[in-house]
Amino acid sequence: MRSDPPTKSDVPMRSDPPTRSNAPKGSGGLKYLLAVALATFAFALFPQIHTASAHREQVLSSLDAVASSPSVRVHSTTDEMAAKTLAMAERAWNRLRPRFQNSPTEPVEVFVVEDDAEYERIQPASMTRGFATFGGNRIYLRGSDLDQEVVTHEMAHILLGANVPPGLRIPDWFNEGFAQFVSGADDHTIEVLYMVTSDRVLGFSALAKIDALRGPDRDVATIQGFAVVRFLADRYGEEQLWALVTRLSHATDFDQALVDTYERSDLQLSEDWLAYASDEYGLLSLMGLRMIGTMALGALALLAVTIWLGAAIRRSIRSPSPLDLTDAEIEEAERAERLQ
Ligand SMILES: [Zn+2]
Repeated sequence: MRSDPPTKSDVPMRSDPPTRSNAPKGSGGLKYLLAVALATFAFALFPQIHTASAHREQVLSSLDAVASSPSVRVHSTTDEMAAKTLAMAERAWNRLRPRFQNSPTEPVEVFVVEDDAEYERIQPASMTRGFATFGGNRIYLRGSDLDQEVVTHEMAHILLGANVPPGLRIPDWFNEGFAQFVSGADDHTIEVLYMVTSDRVLGFSALAKIDALRGPDRDVATIQGFAVVRFLADRYGEEQLWALVTRLSHATDFDQALVDTYERSDLQLSEDWLAYASDEYGLLSLMGLRMIGTMALGALALLAVTIWLGAAIRRSIRSPSPLDLTDAEIEEAERAERLQ
């Protein structure tokens, strides 16, 4: 059953409940007792896992406004939001669907949570604008920060998920980078430039270990993942990228699919990427020079403002304040003193 959670989301939504029951099937009381004890222990240790998914179902069931087409069904609080989101989801679907061999067997269910606090309680990681069940058909969106880009990004996760065999692990950098690439997201040039200049650009094998949901480097999956997908498209053409996506539908290993598509070993490909990154984003690259230029202009402007401010302060110290006495006033005061 692929209609819901084997979950990866905006990334992976690992806090979702498994779709099939994990209860042991009639193999003795001891195993059963052990399972119950373990489950109780797990729930005591991670109560948020249970409450988050229970809360999610509760929030979703309150979204009464529905707008649908044959391929997408949107659930929201207001008819207006549902219709607006459906138009964006249809646009994303019509643009991406022809590039994939398969689509989910059921219509894509899109849930727009307009209440920010509610959305924050159901999101799988902080600061997301949306997430999707990879290998499933559900998209969840933050209603207060909704645009075509995020809808297309999540639709890309759904379609990619529907086109890879259930057991095939897609690294987060590719899942996120691909979704960023096809949705025309901001390319994070400054962040990549910073990573290149501070020596934090990762090769393929290190990148494969980055979890897009957890850890201090979780942004790396999105930022560098996008840069790597752009590198693949730039260097080998966008059609090869789609050829890789098609190949994934019958692959047993992501790295092997990469090697077969680009006909280079993963080590060579990784070295090409690192060389491309320092050419494209290093300080001496066009983008680097442009950024240094912008920063130098900024520094000059700051210097000019500082000099002007200093001069203005000095001027104000030297010029008479309203409390200063004029010559006439001093004269008058002295005359008054003499009269006393
Ligand atoms: Zn994503």
